[in-house]
Amino acid sequence: MKKSSFELKLPVNYSYADIEKSLKKNGIFKKGVINITRQSLDARKKSNIHWNVNIEISKEKIDFTKKQSEIFNISRQNREKRVIIVGSGPAGIFSGLILLNAGFKVTILEQGKKVEDRDKDIISLMNNGIFNPNSNFAFGEGGAGTYSDGKLTSRNKHISKEKDFILTTFINSGAPEEIYSLVHPHIGSDNLKTVTKNLRESFLELGGEFCFETKFISFSSDSKTIKSVETSCGVVDLDYLILATGHSSFSTYRELIKKGVHFTTKNFALGFRAEHPQELINEAQWGVSNINGLKAAEYRLTAKTDSASVFSFCMCPGGVVVPAAATKDTSIVNGMSNYNRDGKYANAAVVASFNFSEFFQREVSPLEALDKLEELEHSYYQATGGYSIPGMKISDFINGRPTGVIGETSYPLGITPYNLEELLPKTVIKPLKQGLIDFSKKLSGYETGTIMGLESKTSSTIQVSRDSKGLCDGFNNLYFAGEGAGWAGGIVSSAADGIKSALDIITREG
Ligand SMILES: Cc1cc2nc3c(=O)[nH]c(=O)nc-3n(C[C@H](O)[C@H](O)[C@H](O)COP(=O)(O)OP(=O)(O)OC[C@H]3O[C@@H](n4cnc5c(N)ncnc54)[C@H](O)[C@@H]3O)c2cc1C
Repeated sequence: MKKSSFELKLPVNYSYADIEKSLKKNGIFKKGVINITRQSLDARKKSNIHWNVNIEISKEKIDFTKKQSEIFNISRQNREKRVIIVGSGPAGIFSGLILLNAGFKVTILEQGKKVEDRDKDIISLMNNGIFNPNSNFAFGEGGAGTYSDGKLTSRNKHISKEKDFILTTFINSGAPEEIYSLVHPHIGSDNLKTVTKNLRESFLELGGEFCFETKFISFSSDSKTIKSVETSCGVVDLDYLILATGHSSFSTYRELIKKGVHFTTKNFALGFRAEHPQELINEAQWGVSNINGLKAAEYRLTAKTDSASVFSFCMCPGGVVVPAAATKDTSIVNGMSNYNRDGKYANAAVVASFNFSEFFQREVSPLEALDKLEELEHSYYQATGGYSIPGMKISDFINGRPTGVIGETSYPLGITPYNLEELLPKTVIKPLKQGLIDFSKKLSGYETGTIMGLESKTSSTIQVSRDSKGLCDGFNNLYFAGEGAGWAGGIVSSAADGIKSALDIITREG
């Protein structure tokens, strides 16, 4: 059989005509449709930045609807069993779609609003600092990832089928097709709102029920079996319960601990968000401030220090820093960007690994870990008396001196010069300084940037005891999936975790 896949080296602003030209130049004259199967930007040599593109020539264009339906061989049956899912983030909606395909009766309970209404609360928060405890950057339809960069990278090597399902579902819900082939795909916050709405519509078309502004409060169980959930809108009976509440729902964690669901305290990370002019990052990565055909340069940095690992996380090229608190009178930050990544600034979390038990040199219970984290997030709110965030210049933090004037940043609610050493736990200060010195050697000009606020939610601070499918220890119908369970993190791995729970329920029911 003649070969139909080819690897091409293409210019940064390549078009389909360039693909055809490159094929001809390589003596390939095969007839058919060109499908791009992989694209990665090679920027290792600044003088030769190009795309490595894998293409396949086949009879037809990739049919993502067909592809999505063929990934899991689920047969639809008329089933009476009712599954209640709490949370409409990636873990919740993807577990719901899988279960509906198998014929279960599925209801999603979401404490926040549908994305169209959530949007108004986000604007109110960004413009006027008005915080709604149930509708913000952490809570509402689509979960924490709705207002994000929508990066779809995941380092988990054991979720290839789930990842295929997630990407094809996103594409069929309005995400750009390139997310299927790009090595670093991202959807962008502007597209994510449409994608979230379309996912809801697919869920409803399949017969699912969505209850917005409905908060899970507690559950009733008979020994190992959950019988019903108590919600802000009444009691609902169920056969299976999937919790997909994310890692910011402290009231849910506290209630679950009270009800005997077992958690442990885990390693997580603390730090701040670093921001630079995007052109500075472009210069450092590409050698020039702009390249026609490329959006904005990314970076991912790590540093090994004497006492902790320091890493950049969730980099948002051309993005903005946002007030991402989930609880009133607390202040934390995160980042988001639109599809075009065309904002003036680049931001990323810079964090050091941290563990409450190590910090206090004694066993810290999950409940105490939640309290301590909330106290820390509250101290940032108190430092400025609101949603203006404390911040300083990176060079000043490294050199242990105060910052006088910070200048413009993308954060919408103002920045107050503040010595962040006074707010962060002592054990992360030295590693963060060492990490920033190391980053400044790797990315020219990094030390001129600004650091701001608290980054405390790169992952959960506690972890539920469960099996690999999400079934909680001591229960036979309680699943905890996604980032809140403490076993997943990010959009793709949380969605994959939700899919695994749904598939386990299908297997058990036969
Ligand atoms: C600003 C920002 C940017 C991000 N950028 C990226 C990115 O680019 N790429 C990436 O991979 N990840 C990103 N993340 C992280 C990503 O969003 C999360 O890892 C992911 O959303 C976790 O999915 P989940 O379904 O487990 O939980 P969540 O998305 O947190 O969803 C949980 C849902 O449960 C609801 N809920 C909670 N408690 C209750 C209750 N008691 N009753 C009813 N409903 C409840 C919440 O309202 C929420 O909608 C970002 C996060 C933020 C905040």
